Amino acid sequence: MAKTINKEVDAVIIGVGWSGGILAAELTKAGMKVVGLERGQDRNTEDWMKDHDELRYAIRYEMFQNVARETWTLRHNLKETALPFRQLGSFLPGTDVGGAGVHWNGQTWRFHPWDFTTRSSTIARYGANAIPANSTIQDWGITYEQMEPYYDKFEYMAGIAGKAGNIKGQTIPGGNTFEGPRSREYPVPPMKMSRSLTVFQQAAKSLGYHVFPGPSANLPQPYTNPDGITRGQCTYCGFCERFGCEVGAKASANVTVLPVAQKTGNFELRTGANVFQIKHDGKRATSVLYHDAQGQVQEQPARIVIVTSYVFNNVRLLLLSKMGTPYDPTTGKGVVGKNYAYQNGGAGAAGYFEDRDFQPYMGAGALSQVLDDFNADNFDHSGLGFLGGGSIASGTSGARPIQSLPTPATVPSWGPEWKAAIRKYKNSAISAGIQGGVFAYRDYFLDLDPTYKDQFGLPLMRITFDWEPNERKFAAYIAPKLKALIEATGAKQVAASGKLAPHYDSVPYQSTHNTGGAIMGSSPADSVVNNYLQMWDFDNVFVVGACNFPQNAGFNPTGTVGALAYRAADGIVNKYKQHPGSLV
Ligand SMILES: Cc1cc2nc3c(=O)[nH]c(=O)nc-3n(C[C@H](O)[C@H](O)[C@H](O)COP(=O)(O)OP(=O)(O)OC[C@H]3O[C@@H](n4cnc5c(N)ncnc54)[C@H](O)[C@@H]3O)c2cc1C
Ligand code: SF4
Repeated sequence: MAKTINKEVDAVIIGVGWSGGILAAELTKAGMKVVGLERGQDRNTEDWMKDHDELRYAIRYEMFQNVARETWTLRHNLKETALPFRQLGSFLPGTDVGGAGVHWNGQTWRFHPWDFTTRSSTIARYGANAIPANSTIQDWGITYEQMEPYYDKFEYMAGIAGKAGNIKGQTIPGGNTFEGPRSREYPVPPMKMSRSLTVFQQAAKSLGYHVFPGPSANLPQPYTNPDGITRGQCTYCGFCERFGCEVGAKASANVTVLPVAQKTGNFELRTGANVFQIKHDGKRATSVLYHDAQGQVQEQPARIVIVTSYVFNNVRLLLLSKMGTPYDPTTGKGVVGKNYAYQNGGAGAAGYFEDRDFQPYMGAGALSQVLDDFNADNFDHSGLGFLGGGSIASGTSGARPIQSLPTPATVPSWGPEWKAAIRKYKNSAISAGIQGGVFAYRDYFLDLDPTYKDQFGLPLMRITFDWEPNERKFAAYIAPKLKALIEATGAKQVAASGKLAPHYDSVPYQSTHNTGGAIMGSSPADSVVNNYLQMWDFDNVFVVGACNFPQNAGFNPTGTVGALAYRAADGIVNKYKQHPGSLV
């Protein structure tokens, strides 16, 4: 096969979203020559100024992975034959520069200290028998205290708006009093409240819950970050999720870290570059192979290879390149693909007022009020029959005209009755939902599909996953509490549900918070990367993203993904560059 071989660089980055963008900025600031390979096209704020076209972006998925070219297959257990996703549904990975971090909502969390030590903390409090027998949850090999400086760095770079609940161990009312200690306050104060959030906040307080504003990457006021990047404020246009931000108020790699990398003169971004293999000699990676925009094969030699192409693509590239030992669920041995997990959105409640106008069309992706009383190990699980939990949020993300037409469950989903109901209720509904953590289980993992292939004839990523009793029990437990919360708002018609589908269903959108497959840990026997996100088996390869989470938490992932990217950059710039080799 004819191919072009490019000049060797210090580092090549595969996938230029949040993780790749942060690494590009940090490495180039340190004087390293870096090439970023992104399979999508370049995007900037002007692209998103065209229109708020809901059909184009939100329904026809303008900026998402094209499943006609590369998709995933799914089965629910080891005995089934997996079948391909023919359409996008349950999750929406991004394509183009900035990745899914362009069309995300911007809800930007730190995980709890408990999330990093789930296994050992559970055993210490409830005993080893409390952990489901088929669960493979494990500690991360890093603590919250070690992560704190990297969280701080991400939040100050992105300009996260919020209210601290714990600074250096001192509890601060009005913030999340359950959070781990922060070194300082958020860089930007919280967003403005919407009408429905004011009502929700009062209801939550009346029930004794610790409600607080959700931390947001949608800037409520102009902000200049430590890199000198200035961004303007959010207009509360309500077209955050699935759209790029036309004013640059929503933090993305495109408007924060990538301009910094470009300015150094050390960064070369190549778009239309679809990486399909990392070449190596069994101990070190030597280069990556990709199809360029013309379909020609190019080779990019590099001293360091950084894999930041999102959970599925990261794991798939390792497997296609025969790097690390693939996980085998029958023996429990091997690591690549291990501990795939998803997120539990199986409970929610909604209420409808007769006489209120909440003006829900004014909103932003992360504009929310949240309570954390039932997340992680923030409540006593003794006798409940499940572990973990989830955050509860009511949001005003912006009621778009096609997809945001709430009606009570008793109303048919079409016809004159439905039309009358959407007229009546579109501005007067209030709701709350969960983001529940999901444990890792022995039989749920990622591997290469034996049957289905992508446009280049390479095996697709196969997902084996289903819901387990631990997560079902949490959804059932929390539903009456959600109902009580919405009832306390004074809504007239209130309905709640707390049941996960009989099997994980790939059709309706649920969350793009997929995790695992290249997990971090303290030993090569049970993890792919060490706590600098460096592969145990290849010390010049760093794999970064939510693929590093050993199990999933009850929050959105990107605050932690960003922190991990800063951790990897710290390891490369301040350690590996001087002394190549294992960092732990
Ligand atoms: C609709 C939506 C809303 C979301 N809202 C939130 C939220 O509010 N809060 C939150 O924390 N998270 C949210 N997320 C998740 C968040 O977007 C991701 O956690 C984050 O973008 C992950 O960053 P990443 O760098 O790991 O991957 P990505 O941002 O997905 O970037 C990966 C990049 O790699 C490229 N790539 C893939 N394969 C290859 C290849 N083979 N060769 C070259 N390039 C490749 C892709 O095109 C992409 O640009 C949301 C996601 C979606 C889809
Ligand atoms: S709501 Fe705010 S942050 Fe979101 S796209 Fe509109 S202006 Fe940007």
